[in-house]
Formats: sequence, C-alpha cells, structure tokens
Amino acid sequence: MKCVICNGKTAKKLVEHKEFGVLVGRFPAEICEKCEETYYSEEIVEEIQKKSKELGLFGLARKVKIAELGNSIAIRIPKEISEFLHLKKGEEVLLVPESKRDLHVQI
Ligand SMILES: [Zn+2]
Repeated sequence: MKCVICNGKTAKKLVEHKEFGVLVGRFPAEICEKCEETYYSEEIVEEIQKKSKELGLFGLARKVKIAELGNSIAIRIPKEISEFLHLKKGEEVLLVPESKRDLHVQI
C-alpha cells in the first residue's frame, strides 16, 4: 500500500504496540519506509482494542476540567489513572511544564 501521509511505500512488519509504556503485544502492520507511519488492518485494530481493554489501558487518557481550589487551580486525576500510576493521597509529585502546551507529572 501507499502511505496516506507522505505517499511513500509501505512494508509488512511485526511491530510491538505499546500504550502508556505498557506492551500490548506484537501485531502485523504496514510501516511506511519513508515516514515510519504505522497502519493496522481493521481486524488488528479490534484485536489491539480487546487486549488494551483486558490490560486496563483502553481509554486511560481522558479530558478533565480544571477546578478552582482557593487561590490555586486543581486537576482531578480519575481513579483509573491513579490506580494505573499507583498514586495515593498524601504522596508528592513534581509538576514540570515541558512547554507552554505540555505539563509532565513526575512521580
Ligand atoms: Zn509515509
């Protein structure tokens, strides 16, 4: 097939698919030889989703609203994410602004 991004040639390969740093599995994919974009077939996408759900990774990234807390603002961390990260009340984390658009929470 041709890459829809750069029109380059793709080749079949077995790739390690990771979500949030966790290995979901190795899956057959078409990889663009030029820009390295990865393409999975519909069946493989379904298989990845199934495995991702089994591992509790599916839908882990989500939008949250910023709340006001006195003079500060607060970001609520959903239960699934705090469980994934083993975060507990009273623990300290380091907030590192990586850029004007990216906040990293270091545990
Ligand atoms: Zn490409």
